[in-house]
Amino acid sequence: MLFLFPQLKCRSLYFGANWCPPSRAFTAQLVDIYNEILNNTNEDFEIIFISTDRGHEEFMQSFSSMPWLAIPYEDETRQDLCRVFEIKGIPALILIGPDGTISREGRTMASLYGAKAFPFTASRAEELEAAVKKEGDGLPDQVKDPKHEHPLQLDMAKAYVCDSCKKPGRFWAFSCDICDYDLHPTSIEYTQRESLFEVLAS
Ligand SMILES: [Zn+2]
Ligand SMILES: [Zn+2]
Repeated sequence: MLFLFPQLKCRSLYFGANWCPPSRAFTAQLVDIYNEILNNTNEDFEIIFISTDRGHEEFMQSFSSMPWLAIPYEDETRQDLCRVFEIKGIPALILIGPDGTISREGRTMASLYGAKAFPFTASRAEELEAAVKKEGDGLPDQVKDPKHEHPLQLDMAKAYVCDSCKKPGRFWAFSCDICDYDLHPTSIEYTQRESLFEVLAS
């Protein structure tokens, strides 16, 4: 598949379709990630959309929200690529590195880490996992925050919304299971004597 834009260092193939709600949701997420990668890095990066839409009109609906390239709907290369990469479900994001290494973890990595996942390689996944673990190692198991009546436990959450700053969070949170209350580790106020003590003691 290296004939596709061989001048680019990092190429990705995005298999998706407008009829598939998770695919539509992932497209929106991927647009943000794509723009962030292009704005923040000097790296060559391109996404090529391989549609599994059911017709040309659906394909146009899918493609209208995408700032990247696409294999034309009429081009049979689409089916060939689905076969070659053994695509069993969509959305799927396949990354082809500069040396031809193929990573199938694009969708998972993009969902978990956003633009930080670039260039979506196995070694980048290891780096990010290690960074998350290190962050957790530096946090106490439990804190008391003046904003909430109960003690908050350190928790690993795939996605949450912080009840203080109302912004989304992922990975580490301080949570109260009784109240379904979550705070970013950075939204904790270590102002009370006892909470400070707990932080120091843990
Ligand atoms: Zn917050
Ligand atoms: Zn509570």
